[in-house]
Amino acid sequence: MDDRLFKAAMGKFATGVTVITTEIDGQVHGMTANAFMSVSIDPKLILISVADKAKMHDLIKQSGKFAVNILAEHQQDMSMVFAGQIKDRDVAFDRFEDLPVIEDSLVTIACDVYDTHPAGDHTLFVGAVQNLQLQEDEPLAIYEGKYKDLQDKVTSEV
Ligand code: FAD
Repeated sequence: MDDRLFKAAMGKFATGVTVITTEIDGQVHGMTANAFMSVSIDPKLILISVADKAKMHDLIKQSGKFAVNILAEHQQDMSMVFAGQIKDRDVAFDRFEDLPVIEDSLVTIACDVYDTHPAGDHTLFVGAVQNLQLQEDEPLAIYEGKYKDLQDKVTSEV
């Protein structure tokens, strides 16, 4: 199967956008990721998929912990900074559960690594949720490789 066809099909799945953050010896690192999902309620587990070639991969393996920052609509620049699309931006980080986190995120989830699974050219990191914080705002969304406004058109409750 052609890679472009696969990517185009996966891009039809609308998602939010997160920045994964971690820290080694006081060195803070962030990476934009939309491969994020909730996994389990008891215990509370989430999952991220990180490319083996990403710096974040080795840093999470070393630190054993990470934060998932679910971005709000006004944080598109943070998505671009941590995907390397905006260069040389100084970012002010907050602290939460001894982890660096992105200020004003919609949700911040502090995790310890619970399990890892190699999966092709990525690694699935399952995170045990230690704590989280959330605020009321609109989410940043991505669909077909483009950032989108979510129009507030509720058709019915889930
Ligand atoms: P780098 O490429 O070195 O870092 C990423 C960028 O963040 C660099 O520009 C760096 O300067 C900046 N940065 C890092 N730390 C700091 C700091 N402390 N202060 C200021 N800037 C800093 N990849 C995946 O593996 N999984 C995914 O689910 C995924 N989803 C994505 C979703 C979207 C919408 C986009 C745009 C990209 C996604 N990517 C995903 C790709 C991934 O974000 C990039 O490949 C990223 O560059 C990999 O980061 P890295 O850890 O290798 O570090």
